[in-house]
Amino acid sequence: MRFLIHFLFLSTIISQQKIELPMKFNNVNYDLSIPRPEEVMGHKIGERHTRTSQVIDYFEAIAGISDRVIMDDHAKSHEGRRLIHAIVTHPDNHNNLESLKQENIKISDSPSQMTNRKLGTMPMIAYLGFSVHGDEASGTEAAVLLLHHLAAGQGNEIDEILKNTILIIDPMFNPDGRDRFVNWVNGNRGLVPTSDIQDREHNQPWPRGRTNHYLFDLNRDWLPVTQPESEGRVKLFHKWRPQFLLDVHEMGRNSTYFFQPGIKSRINPNTTKKAVELTYKLAPFHAKRLDDIQSLYYSEESFDDFYYGKGSTYGDIHGSVGILFEQASSRALQTDSNQGKLSYAFSVRNQFMATLGTLDGLVALKNEFLKYHRDFYKTSKDVATKNKIKGYLINLKKNRTRAQLLLKTLQNHRVKVYDLSKSIAMRGKKFEIGEAVIIPTDQPQTRFIAGTMEKVTNFEDSLFYDVSAWTLPLAFGVDYYEMKQKPNAFLGSQLKSTLLDGGQLFGGKANTAYLMPWSRYYNPRSLYKILDRGIIPRLTTDSFTAEVSGKEMKFDKGTIIVPVYQRDALSTISPADVHKLMQEIVESDHVQIYATNTALTPQGPDLGGPFQSVLSKPEVAVLSGDGTSAYGVGEIWHLVNYRMKIPISLLDANNLNQGKLSKYNTLILADGSYSQLDSIDVNSLKDWIANGGTLISVQSASRWVVEDSLTDEHLLENNELDFDIPYDQIRNVSGAQRIGGAIFNVELDNTHPVAYGYGKTHPIFRRGTAFFKLSDAPAANVGRYTSSPLISGYISEEKLDEMKNTASIISKKQDSGRIIMFADNPAFRAFWYGTHGLLMNAILFGKAF
Ligand SMILES: [Zn+2]
Repeated sequence: MRFLIHFLFLSTIISQQKIELPMKFNNVNYDLSIPRPEEVMGHKIGERHTRTSQVIDYFEAIAGISDRVIMDDHAKSHEGRRLIHAIVTHPDNHNNLESLKQENIKISDSPSQMTNRKLGTMPMIAYLGFSVHGDEASGTEAAVLLLHHLAAGQGNEIDEILKNTILIIDPMFNPDGRDRFVNWVNGNRGLVPTSDIQDREHNQPWPRGRTNHYLFDLNRDWLPVTQPESEGRVKLFHKWRPQFLLDVHEMGRNSTYFFQPGIKSRINPNTTKKAVELTYKLAPFHAKRLDDIQSLYYSEESFDDFYYGKGSTYGDIHGSVGILFEQASSRALQTDSNQGKLSYAFSVRNQFMATLGTLDGLVALKNEFLKYHRDFYKTSKDVATKNKIKGYLINLKKNRTRAQLLLKTLQNHRVKVYDLSKSIAMRGKKFEIGEAVIIPTDQPQTRFIAGTMEKVTNFEDSLFYDVSAWTLPLAFGVDYYEMKQKPNAFLGSQLKSTLLDGGQLFGGKANTAYLMPWSRYYNPRSLYKILDRGIIPRLTTDSFTAEVSGKEMKFDKGTIIVPVYQRDALSTISPADVHKLMQEIVESDHVQIYATNTALTPQGPDLGGPFQSVLSKPEVAVLSGDGTSAYGVGEIWHLVNYRMKIPISLLDANNLNQGKLSKYNTLILADGSYSQLDSIDVNSLKDWIANGGTLISVQSASRWVVEDSLTDEHLLENNELDFDIPYDQIRNVSGAQRIGGAIFNVELDNTHPVAYGYGKTHPIFRRGTAFFKLSDAPAANVGRYTSSPLISGYISEEKLDEMKNTASIISKKQDSGRIIMFADNPAFRAFWYGTHGLLMNAILFGKAF
């Protein structure tokens, strides 16, 4: 493509063969008192992969010397690594940094006060982030070069950058993933590097360095903010409110270089035209710097800007402009590609030069970025006026913890949440003071609210690089209402932050039992603590009433009965210990517990009833390694281990045998192809189920379970598509049949233990087009898609038709064991809180039916 602007000076043309980094420029001299990267790190950039601690060493060294640079930490990774950033600007700006920050915040808080003249005197703020995918390593090296360039560079060009911008350089978004990758490549390379892609250096083992510790893609986590790295990053973003956000990646080795704009029709409709326009205006600056080094590139032909959980898109919904870079990956130090040997140094240089292009563009367009940022917030009122939804009422009475987690997530993104000033009833739903909150859409973050809270079923394009829906109240599974009238009369005070609460022990010390209703998000964590202490609780399979503090109270099926006295002669836990544990878990897990002094119930089964299940501790493993999806495994690992604090073993998914499997009573097959498992493994699994094991399969693993005949269930035959079409339409036609990720309504059999704690219907998230026929086994269809299942997101009419009345959860006995198949992923990206309970029920109640 051709861009309109084409100017700037010529830089030195550098030979493509030997790449020296840092590079030399005609118009920039480097201050030799500022150390070059190799003087601190011991190797030249591009000659080996730089470990995270070496990056930090360099940043600390420069911040210690340069009056243009300060450095700070903004998060700590799961593995304890530091997430750092440097603030780089002119020393004069550093002297006024706090007031410049406050002025900048005014642009979004009080936009009408910020005149063009005022903005003209201000520097703009840019957040430059690198290598969120740990094995896309070249970005971080470019960030090191950038710091050197800006700290040591002398001359007019550098001065202009420093005066006009405040740069937040975040050199590594994902340090755990980076070190996993860097240690692999550096550790598997000999003195003389090889470009052979079959060589070990080129083939990372499972799990690759792309993800963080719990195997999450941090570039999908800007919106849900489920990981500590994202929490720090998003906090830093909102502390500074930048007008620009850069997100630097790598792509396949046979490609060239990509910078946004991406595909025009795949921009989220909540993103403004002006943001897109600024993306186009920046493009020639990127192009110019890459032309200077005679490097090929492209834009507009790939990558979308649709999902707000991605870095380059996240900026767009905050009056900022997000830009994605993608460099062909050498992965190792050198790699064979269809354009010859691609070196790491070449990749790094492209990333560095494109980033310099960004800085050229920011300097030239600074006032436009600042004005756009102001106008974005100035026009929020107009946007809110056009929105039919005037507010969201969120009920805290039901699923309090999940509702509070939603509020916390929204508040991470500066969404304002208010108490009710009086109770409201809306179409039979009651929202009471103290038990509900309102999120008015007329507030500065109105576009963000629309882009994350609305249900969307109309789309301009039918192809999606990522998910097509993430409607947060559905994902968090909360009871909410979209208000069509202005909520002003009901607004109480603004809630600055949300703390999880609501745990309570009613009725004091129990004589007979404690009753824990199965209605809160962290119930599974509490139940595991109870089991782990050697208490043998019971699961009620019918509703009943019990006496608590002299009052008759109603309890639903799924309530856990915790006996005060342990019948087990070997038990060492005393009634006082049980009481203390109950006090602890109401605090730590925000659950409700009721003390009762008799096993006799006024209504329903007594507390020792014959149909209640006696629960036992789950010994859980999840298959991992080759053949499984790292994301899928990570999501389950994170939910069970990190959130619910239940130990779970990551078991290698091959060479399964009875000895290995017999240690566990519950085995989870996360999303994956399971192509590594042979017939011996499959037979071992069958025998293990026959002997009483509970097998839980998720998403494509459920398909594998059916196809490899672990159980007698059936996939729906997909309708044949007509592919007698012109060649240039094939991508669109087949792509339109994909389900990249959308939200559907499922009818639940909540009389089944796997659906305890749920209502009759519940929204679930689905990816992929494998549909399961309803099961013939007795009472096995715990979840089925309704006859009109689409709630939010894209699905083709053909696929929607196929999906109706197919199975979503099948749960059944097989020999002495159980099989529980989830057609969909109940743990998607850790923010689908609403369906976590289904998976936890399968784990904890897998033997209770
Ligand atoms: Zn990437």
